[in-house]
Amino acid sequence: MKTFVWGLGTSDRCLRKEIRDELDKHAEQNIFAEAKKFNLTITEIGASRPICIDCEEEIKEKGIFSWSSFSKKKSKNRK
Ligand SMILES: [Zn+2]
Repeated sequence: MKTFVWGLGTSDRCLRKEIRDELDKHAEQNIFAEAKKFNLTITEIGASRPICIDCEEEIKEKGIFSWSSFSKKKSKNRK
């Protein structure tokens, strides 16, 4: 089984606003999409800020270990 570890943090801030709007996803969601594309299994995830409740659910559902804390809140930015 292939494993996939990807740290989060600066990637979303590096993107220009228009690209970020186009993606309309959380960094966590981008990672899930990338991993799926390359048929990789994510085993661990880490973010520089607390992970929102939507992403937390997905992380737990996939059995991923998180180095980050969970905010237990819905993201305010989520559309
Ligand atoms: Zn999120």
